[in-house]
Amino acid sequence: MLLHVGIDDTDSKEGMCTTYVGAVAIGGLKAQGVKLEEYPKLIRLNPNWKLKTRGNCAIAFTTRVKKHQIPAVKETVLRAVEELAELHVETTNPGVVFYESERVPVRLRKFSKKVVQDIVTIDEAEVLARKIGAEVHKFKLGRGIIGALAAIGNPLERDRTFELIAYRTPENRGTLRKVDAASVVRMNDQTFPRTFDNLDPFTGEIRITPHTPCPILYGIRGEDAETTLGAHELVKALEPIERFIVYKTNQGTDEHLRRAKVAGVKPYWSVIVEGEVSSAPKIILGGHVIFSMRDKTGEIDCAAYEPTRQFRDVAKRLIVGDKVVAYGGVKEKPELPLTINLEKLSILKLAPVLRKVNPTCPRCGKRMKSEGKGKGYSCKRCKVRVSASAAKIVEVRREIEVGAFEVPPRARRHLARPLVRVAYLRREY
Ligand SMILES: [Zn+2]
Repeated sequence: MLLHVGIDDTDSKEGMCTTYVGAVAIGGLKAQGVKLEEYPKLIRLNPNWKLKTRGNCAIAFTTRVKKHQIPAVKETVLRAVEELAELHVETTNPGVVFYESERVPVRLRKFSKKVVQDIVTIDEAEVLARKIGAEVHKFKLGRGIIGALAAIGNPLERDRTFELIAYRTPENRGTLRKVDAASVVRMNDQTFPRTFDNLDPFTGEIRITPHTPCPILYGIRGEDAETTLGAHELVKALEPIERFIVYKTNQGTDEHLRRAKVAGVKPYWSVIVEGEVSSAPKIILGGHVIFSMRDKTGEIDCAAYEPTRQFRDVAKRLIVGDKVVAYGGVKEKPELPLTINLEKLSILKLAPVLRKVNPTCPRCGKRMKSEGKGKGYSCKRCKVRVSASAAKIVEVRREIEVGAFEVPPRARRHLARPLVRVAYLRREY
């Protein structure tokens, strides 16, 4: 029979990572001869939720087991969580779910989608678990059962990517990561865009190594498992790798986004909204760029925050009347309109900027001088005069172009689909 296992909320800002807990549990199962049905899943959850853990990710995997093996599987998974989870940290509230079923029911899939796009309570998770007959294990408050269920229920059907994660040995955790930068550049040269987010395109900074005290040495993201495995062979680690694992994931898929009209946008959602720029961009304290856009239903603010760097230059050059599509998480601030925290921006149509140009002299061809407002133009040399209506209206070249723009990898959400993937998949927004 199939046994699905979900794990969530084992990490804290101080360390650990649910992907590592999963890797250890899976390693323990393999040692007992229990095999996985498919690649284990790494599911990123709603990135806007206040109570999220650091990366807000949950993991799940499916094993085909005999009835008598089930107690040992559960024991191995629960022991990995007990031993590795940051239980001493108040905000770490792990949850583990075991679910014996040949199929993933529709209501679990729907729940899963809601956890990525919206807000779900522990109560909702427990009610669902009872209904479908899933076994939940709560550690402390057990908030993790939400993500654990969601990870089991996400079929990764419409789109998915892969991430190979290599882990450090315990004695090195918390110290500077030692990876040969030149080997990462070579790996990127050979595998991009089938792998992505290896380097920051503007600064050249290595992006595969995180900057947190977690056990991850590096993570390589790609379109398929084989490519990430090949890329891993190309990266030269200058410290020992304890283990590595390949996850199938919703990272880089835009699964968090939903299309919405302005009036329908809710806090904590991530949305795709089409409209027209309705107030000129302002640069506010801290270097953030804010503008408003509207559709037929209302008006909303859009923000390109300072860490998005070059992306702000696009937002800054918008003018009222430009037709755009905004992609991003919705923030709620007291006494301010809802704000879309921009992840991507498509410019569909630029509003024309018109400028009046003095006419040229019909005799000598030089630019004529204005005689004053509404009084026409003259050429002093040829003593020629023409009326005010001879002025020409020309369209000024804008400093931006129609197209799609995104924040740099360093400021990008795990769930946000990089534009390079859009091109790769030949999918259009
Ligand atoms: Zn002239």
